[in-house]
Amino acid sequence: MNVVFLGRPGSGKGTQAKILAKELEVPHISTGDIFRDIIKKNTSYGKKLNNYIKNGILVPNDLTNEIIKQTLKKKEFGKGFILDGYPRTINQAKFLSSITDINYVINLTVTKKEIRKRILEREEKTGVKREDDKKEVIEKRLKEYSTKTKPLIEYYTKKKKLLNIDGNDSIEKINNRIQRKIKNEMFREIDENS
Ligand code: ADP
Repeated sequence: MNVVFLGRPGSGKGTQAKILAKELEVPHISTGDIFRDIIKKNTSYGKKLNNYIKNGILVPNDLTNEIIKQTLKKKEFGKGFILDGYPRTINQAKFLSSITDINYVINLTVTKKEIRKRILEREEKTGVKREDDKKEVIEKRLKEYSTKTKPLIEYYTKKKKLLNIDGNDSIEKINNRIQRKIKNEMFREIDENS
């Protein structure tokens, strides 16, 4: 099964995507994690990526699409995957559909108030310091989401792939909601086709 997670930065996409990947026994792919791994290596390419990320700006489509293309080519992604943080623009969604099929897009909805709280708390909880979790940068990331990523909600609704999930709850409750929604959707499709 190929699943995409959509949602504002800090909506819990990463957390939920990892849990679902374990449950479905498919790999989890986070473009944010891939970029951060490249940045750690301190190459000039990594520095270029970091200039976007530390300022809360989306990495250009061509660079991001190329990374996803190379990743999905690998054999381990053949039996399915959970994509977290990709696609984030209409250009990326179109590119993705040109290389593979997506079954479901989970749209995690969380209020902006809750997002600001969660991101600022993330450092305390995880002990990981992210340069882009500063107040001004969070606002920039939320703006980037509104202008560039939000249009994907309509895009995937039209394609009948969008599953809306209320993300203002505990990790476990949200995971249960996601599981239930996917199962219902699978049964609905079976009914429709029989
Ligand atoms: P969050 O969803 O909380 O913003 P991520 O780790 O998914 O965290 O992403 C961190 C940063 O990596 C983004 O702000 C953006 O700069 C970059 N990034 C991640 N995925 C993409 C993508 N699909 N397209 C462009 N930039 C991306």
